Amino acid sequence: MTELKLKDQVAIVTGSSSGIGKACAIHLASLGAKVVVNYSSNLEEGQKTVDEIEKNGGIAILVKADVSHEEEVKAMFNKTVNEFGRLDILVSNAGLQQDSSFLDMTLAQWQKVIDVNLTGQFLCCREASRQFVAQEKRKSEPDHSELSVGKIILMSSVHDIIPWAGHVNYAASKGGIMMFMKSISQELAPYKIRVNSVSPGAIKTTINKDVWSDPEKYKSLLQLIPYKRIGTPQDVAKAVAWLASDDSDYVNGETLYIDGGMTLYPEFADNG
Ligand code: NAD
Repeated sequence: MTELKLKDQVAIVTGSSSGIGKACAIHLASLGAKVVVNYSSNLEEGQKTVDEIEKNGGIAILVKADVSHEEEVKAMFNKTVNEFGRLDILVSNAGLQQDSSFLDMTLAQWQKVIDVNLTGQFLCCREASRQFVAQEKRKSEPDHSELSVGKIILMSSVHDIIPWAGHVNYAASKGGIMMFMKSISQELAPYKIRVNSVSPGAIKTTINKDVWSDPEKYKSLLQLIPYKRIGTPQDVAKAVAWLASDDSDYVNGETLYIDGGMTLYPEFADNG
Protein backbone atom coordinates (compact mmCIF):
# COMPACT_ATOMS: atom_id res chain seq x y z
CA MET A 1 0.00 0.00 0.00
CA THR A 2 1.25 3.51 -0.84
CA GLU A 3 2.37 5.45 2.22
CA LEU A 4 0.17 8.55 2.66
CA LYS A 5 3.04 11.02 3.00
CA LEU A 6 0.80 14.04 2.44
CA LYS A 7 -2.15 12.89 4.53
CA ASP A 8 -4.65 15.73 5.10
CA GLN A 9 -2.32 18.39 3.72
CA VAL A 10 -4.05 20.88 1.46
CA ALA A 11 -2.59 21.52 -1.99
CA ILE A 12 -3.43 23.91 -4.82
CA VAL A 13 -2.28 22.79 -8.27
CA THR A 14 -2.70 25.51 -10.89
CA GLY A 15 -3.51 24.49 -14.46
CA SER A 16 -4.50 20.98 -13.39
CA SER A 17 -7.17 20.32 -16.00
CA SER A 18 -4.52 18.76 -18.26
CA GLY A 19 -0.97 17.50 -18.68
CA ILE A 20 1.61 17.81 -15.91
CA GLY A 21 -0.74 19.69 -13.56
CA LYS A 22 -3.38 17.00 -13.85
CA ALA A 23 -0.83 14.28 -13.07
CA CYS A 24 0.43 16.29 -10.07
CA ALA A 25 -3.11 16.76 -8.71
CA ILE A 26 -3.90 13.06 -9.04
CA HIS A 27 -0.59 11.95 -7.53
CA LEU A 28 -0.74 14.36 -4.56
CA ALA A 29 -4.29 13.19 -3.86
CA SER A 30 -3.14 9.55 -3.99
CA LEU A 31 -0.68 10.45 -1.21
CA GLY A 32 -3.50 11.79 0.96
CA ALA A 33 -3.55 15.49 0.08
CA LYS A 34 -6.82 17.38 -0.33
CA VAL A 35 -6.42 19.02 -3.71
CA VAL A 36 -7.71 22.20 -5.29
CA VAL A 37 -7.89 21.51 -9.02
CA ASN A 38 -7.55 24.83 -10.83
CA TYR A 39 -8.61 25.47 -14.41
CA SER A 40 -8.92 28.67 -16.40
CA SER A 41 -11.31 27.81 -19.23
CA ASN A 42 -11.93 24.09 -19.71
CA LEU A 43 -14.51 23.18 -17.05
CA GLU A 44 -15.09 19.71 -18.50
CA GLU A 45 -11.39 18.72 -18.37
CA GLY A 46 -11.04 20.18 -14.87
CA GLN A 47 -14.00 18.11 -13.72
CA LYS A 48 -12.36 14.98 -15.20
CA THR A 49 -9.34 15.53 -12.92
CA VAL A 50 -11.63 15.85 -9.90
CA ASP A 51 -13.60 12.77 -10.96
CA GLU A 52 -10.46 10.69 -11.27
CA ILE A 53 -9.24 11.78 -7.82
CA GLU A 54 -12.61 10.94 -6.27
CA LYS A 55 -12.79 7.60 -8.10
CA ASN A 56 -9.50 6.70 -6.38
CA GLY A 57 -10.97 7.67 -2.98
CA GLY A 58 -9.31 11.10 -2.81
CA ILE A 59 -10.65 14.56 -1.99
CA ALA A 60 -10.68 17.45 -4.47
CA ILE A 61 -12.57 20.60 -5.38
CA LEU A 62 -12.61 22.42 -8.70
CA VAL A 63 -11.82 26.16 -8.80
CA LYS A 64 -11.82 28.40 -11.86
CA ALA A 65 -9.17 31.12 -11.91
CA ASP A 66 -6.95 32.76 -14.48
CA VAL A 67 -3.58 32.89 -12.69
CA SER A 68 -2.67 36.17 -14.39
CA HIS A 69 -5.65 37.97 -12.80
CA GLU A 70 -5.01 39.13 -9.25
CA GLU A 71 -8.61 39.10 -8.06
CA GLU A 72 -9.23 35.60 -9.43
CA VAL A 73 -6.09 34.30 -7.75
CA LYS A 74 -7.10 35.85 -4.43
CA ALA A 75 -10.57 34.34 -4.75
CA MET A 76 -9.07 30.89 -5.41
CA PHE A 77 -6.95 31.06 -2.25
CA ASN A 78 -9.93 32.31 -0.21
CA LYS A 79 -12.08 29.48 -1.49
CA THR A 80 -9.36 26.97 -0.60
CA VAL A 81 -9.11 28.20 2.98
CA ASN A 82 -12.90 28.44 3.35
CA GLU A 83 -13.27 24.86 2.14
CA PHE A 84 -10.29 23.14 3.78
CA GLY A 85 -9.24 25.55 6.57
CA ARG A 86 -5.59 25.84 5.55
CA LEU A 87 -2.98 25.49 2.82
CA ASP A 88 0.22 23.42 2.92
CA ILE A 89 1.36 23.06 -0.70
CA LEU A 90 1.28 25.19 -3.85
CA VAL A 91 2.21 23.63 -7.18
CA SER A 92 2.42 26.70 -9.42
CA ASN A 93 2.19 24.89 -12.73
CA ALA A 94 -0.04 26.83 -15.16
CA GLY A 95 1.80 27.93 -18.25
CA LEU A 96 1.60 28.32 -21.99
CA GLN A 97 3.57 29.00 -25.16
CA GLN A 98 2.91 31.53 -27.92
CA ASP A 99 5.70 30.89 -30.39
CA SER A 100 7.06 33.28 -32.98
CA SER A 101 10.36 34.30 -34.48
CA PHE A 102 11.79 37.21 -32.51
CA LEU A 103 11.54 39.57 -35.49
CA ASP A 104 7.83 38.89 -35.86
CA MET A 105 6.89 38.59 -32.20
CA THR A 106 4.09 40.95 -31.22
CA LEU A 107 3.85 42.74 -27.91
CA ALA A 108 0.66 40.77 -27.26
CA GLN A 109 2.51 37.43 -27.68
CA TRP A 110 5.32 38.59 -25.40
CA GLN A 111 2.93 39.99 -22.80
CA LYS A 112 0.59 37.00 -22.67
CA VAL A 113 3.39 34.52 -21.95
CA ILE A 114 5.00 36.76 -19.33
CA ASP A 115 1.60 37.45 -17.74
CA VAL A 116 0.70 33.77 -17.32
CA ASN A 117 4.10 32.11 -16.88
CA LEU A 118 5.81 34.71 -14.69
CA THR A 119 3.29 37.16 -13.25
CA GLY A 120 0.91 34.25 -12.62
CA GLN A 121 3.61 32.54 -10.56
CA PHE A 122 4.24 35.78 -8.65
CA LEU A 123 0.55 36.17 -7.79
CA CYS A 124 0.07 32.54 -6.72
CA CYS A 125 3.32 32.33 -4.74
CA ARG A 126 2.57 35.60 -2.96
CA GLU A 127 -0.92 34.49 -1.92
CA ALA A 128 0.38 31.08 -0.78
CA SER A 129 3.16 32.70 1.25
CA ARG A 130 0.77 35.13 2.89
CA GLN A 131 -1.46 32.22 3.86
CA PHE A 132 1.48 30.15 5.16
CA VAL A 133 2.66 33.05 7.32
CA ALA A 134 -0.84 33.82 8.58
CA GLN A 135 -1.75 30.31 9.61
CA GLU A 136 -0.35 28.98 12.84
CA LYS A 137 1.84 25.95 12.62
CA ARG A 138 -0.28 23.30 14.26
CA LYS A 139 2.31 21.05 15.82
CA SER A 140 -0.27 19.34 17.99
CA GLU A 141 -1.87 17.81 14.92
CA PRO A 142 0.35 14.89 13.99
CA ASP A 143 -1.01 14.58 10.46
CA HIS A 144 0.30 17.97 9.47
CA SER A 145 3.83 18.49 8.27
CA GLU A 146 6.10 18.62 11.33
CA LEU A 147 8.77 20.58 9.56
CA SER A 148 7.99 23.19 6.89
CA VAL A 149 5.12 25.57 7.39
CA GLY A 150 4.44 25.51 3.66
CA LYS A 151 5.91 24.17 0.44
CA ILE A 152 5.95 25.88 -2.95
CA ILE A 153 6.94 24.10 -6.15
CA LEU A 154 7.21 26.21 -9.31
CA MET A 155 6.93 24.62 -12.73
CA SER A 156 9.86 25.90 -14.72
CA SER A 157 11.50 24.24 -17.75
CA VAL A 158 14.90 23.22 -19.10
CA HIS A 159 14.53 26.52 -20.95
CA ASP A 160 15.41 28.32 -17.73
CA ILE A 161 18.99 27.52 -18.78
CA ILE A 162 18.77 26.35 -22.43
CA PRO A 163 18.24 29.30 -24.79
CA TRP A 164 15.35 28.69 -27.23
CA ALA A 165 15.27 30.57 -30.53
CA GLY A 166 11.73 31.10 -31.77
CA HIS A 167 10.42 30.98 -28.19
CA VAL A 168 12.10 33.94 -26.51
CA ASN A 169 8.98 34.93 -24.56
CA TYR A 170 8.76 31.41 -23.09
CA ALA A 171 12.51 31.13 -22.35
CA ALA A 172 12.52 34.60 -20.74
CA SER A 173 9.56 33.64 -18.55
CA LYS A 174 11.21 30.42 -17.37
CA GLY A 175 14.61 32.09 -16.88
CA GLY A 176 12.74 34.66 -14.80
CA ILE A 177 11.20 31.90 -12.70
CA MET A 178 14.66 30.68 -11.72
CA MET A 179 15.72 34.00 -10.13
CA PHE A 180 12.24 34.63 -8.77
CA MET A 181 12.26 31.21 -7.10
CA LYS A 182 15.74 31.62 -5.61
CA SER A 183 15.02 35.12 -4.35
CA ILE A 184 11.75 34.27 -2.62
CA SER A 185 13.29 31.10 -1.27
CA GLN A 186 15.98 33.19 0.40
CA GLU A 187 13.39 35.62 1.74
CA LEU A 188 10.89 33.03 2.98
CA ALA A 189 13.22 30.45 4.51
CA PRO A 190 13.19 32.16 7.95
CA TYR A 191 9.41 31.60 7.97
CA LYS A 192 10.06 27.87 7.40
CA ILE A 193 8.56 28.09 3.93
CA ARG A 194 10.38 26.00 1.32
CA VAL A 195 10.44 27.06 -2.33
CA ASN A 196 11.85 24.93 -5.16
CA SER A 197 11.38 24.52 -8.91
CA VAL A 198 11.12 21.55 -11.18
CA SER A 199 12.38 21.97 -14.72
CA PRO A 200 10.99 19.36 -17.08
CA GLY A 201 12.57 18.52 -20.42
CA ALA A 202 10.25 17.11 -23.09
CA ILE A 203 7.13 15.74 -21.45
CA LYS A 204 4.34 14.24 -23.52
CA THR A 205 1.42 16.70 -23.17
CA THR A 206 -0.71 18.87 -25.44
CA ILE A 207 1.80 21.75 -25.20
CA ASN A 208 4.23 19.88 -27.51
CA LYS A 209 1.84 17.57 -29.40
CA ASP A 210 3.07 18.89 -32.74
CA VAL A 211 6.50 17.39 -31.94
CA TRP A 212 5.70 13.93 -30.52
CA SER A 213 2.83 13.27 -32.95
CA ASP A 214 5.11 13.75 -35.99
CA PRO A 215 7.53 10.77 -36.42
CA GLU A 216 10.28 12.88 -38.01
CA LYS A 217 10.14 15.60 -35.36
CA TYR A 218 9.98 12.94 -32.64
CA LYS A 219 13.14 11.31 -33.98
CA SER A 220 14.96 14.65 -33.87
CA LEU A 221 13.68 15.25 -30.35
CA LEU A 222 15.11 11.94 -29.13
CA GLN A 223 18.56 13.07 -30.29
CA LEU A 224 18.34 15.73 -27.59
CA ILE A 225 17.53 13.20 -24.85
CA PRO A 226 20.38 10.90 -23.73
CA TYR A 227 17.86 8.65 -21.93
CA LYS A 228 16.11 8.10 -25.30
CA ARG A 229 12.51 8.49 -24.28
CA ILE A 230 10.07 11.33 -23.92
CA GLY A 231 9.00 12.03 -20.33
CA THR A 232 5.54 11.46 -18.91
CA PRO A 233 3.52 13.80 -16.71
CA GLN A 234 3.86 11.15 -13.98
CA ASP A 235 7.67 11.45 -14.11
CA VAL A 236 7.25 15.08 -13.09
CA ALA A 237 4.42 14.45 -10.59
CA LYS A 238 6.57 12.03 -8.56
CA ALA A 239 9.35 14.61 -8.20
CA VAL A 240 6.83 17.30 -7.26
CA ALA A 241 5.38 15.04 -4.55
CA TRP A 242 8.88 14.49 -3.14
CA LEU A 243 9.51 18.23 -3.00
CA ALA A 244 6.13 18.68 -1.30
CA SER A 245 6.89 16.05 1.33
CA ASP A 246 9.01 16.15 4.48
CA ASP A 247 11.47 13.78 2.77
CA SER A 248 12.95 16.86 1.10
CA ASP A 249 12.80 19.11 4.18
CA TYR A 250 16.38 20.35 3.80
CA VAL A 251 15.99 21.11 0.07
CA ASN A 252 15.36 24.80 -0.48
CA GLY A 253 15.93 27.13 -3.42
CA GLU A 254 16.81 24.29 -5.78
CA THR A 255 15.88 23.52 -9.37
CA LEU A 256 15.39 19.84 -10.10
CA TYR A 257 15.82 18.95 -13.79
CA ILE A 258 13.56 16.12 -14.90
CA ASP A 259 14.74 15.77 -18.45
CA GLY A 260 16.33 12.38 -19.21
CA GLY A 261 19.62 14.25 -19.46
CA MET A 262 18.56 16.96 -21.94
CA THR A 263 20.67 19.50 -20.04
CA LEU A 264 23.83 17.34 -20.41
CA TYR A 265 24.82 18.85 -23.79
CA PRO A 266 24.03 15.58 -25.67
CA GLU A 267 25.69 16.90 -28.85
CA PHE A 268 29.01 16.48 -27.02
CA ALA A 269 28.41 12.79 -26.27
CA ASP A 270 30.58 11.79 -29.25
CA ASN A 271 33.42 14.08 -28.22
CA GLY A 272 31.87 17.22 -29.72
P1 NAD B 1 -0.74 21.78 -20.82
O1 NAD B 1 -1.08 22.73 -21.90
O2 NAD B 1 -1.39 20.45 -20.82
O3 NAD B 1 -0.99 22.43 -19.41
C1 NAD B 1 -0.95 23.81 -19.14
C2 NAD B 1 -2.09 24.12 -18.20
O4 NAD B 1 -2.03 25.50 -17.81
C3 NAD B 1 -3.44 23.88 -18.87
O5 NAD B 1 -4.25 23.15 -18.00
C4 NAD B 1 -3.97 25.29 -19.08
O6 NAD B 1 -5.38 25.35 -19.03
C5 NAD B 1 -3.34 26.00 -17.91
N1 NAD B 1 -3.35 27.45 -18.08
C6 NAD B 1 -2.91 28.16 -19.18
N2 NAD B 1 -3.12 29.47 -18.95
C7 NAD B 1 -3.68 29.58 -17.73
C8 NAD B 1 -4.12 30.68 -16.95
N3 NAD B 1 -4.04 31.94 -17.40
N4 NAD B 1 -4.63 30.43 -15.70
C9 NAD B 1 -4.74 29.16 -15.24
N5 NAD B 1 -4.35 28.09 -15.94
C10 NAD B 1 -3.82 28.30 -17.17
O7 NAD B 1 0.84 21.63 -20.88
P2 NAD B 1 1.86 21.03 -19.81
O8 NAD B 1 2.97 20.51 -20.60
O9 NAD B 1 1.17 20.16 -18.84
O10 NAD B 1 2.36 22.36 -19.10
C11 NAD B 1 2.33 22.54 -17.70
C12 NAD B 1 3.53 23.34 -17.26
O11 NAD B 1 4.72 22.58 -17.52
C13 NAD B 1 3.71 24.67 -17.98
O12 NAD B 1 4.15 25.65 -17.05
C14 NAD B 1 4.81 24.37 -18.98
O13 NAD B 1 5.55 25.51 -19.34
C15 NAD B 1 5.65 23.39 -18.18
N6 NAD B 1 6.55 22.56 -18.99
C16 NAD B 1 6.08 21.63 -19.88
C17 NAD B 1 6.97 20.86 -20.61
C18 NAD B 1 6.53 19.81 -21.58
O14 NAD B 1 7.38 19.28 -22.31
N7 NAD B 1 5.27 19.44 -21.63
C19 NAD B 1 8.34 21.06 -20.44
C20 NAD B 1 8.79 22.03 -19.55
C21 NAD B 1 7.89 22.77 -18.81
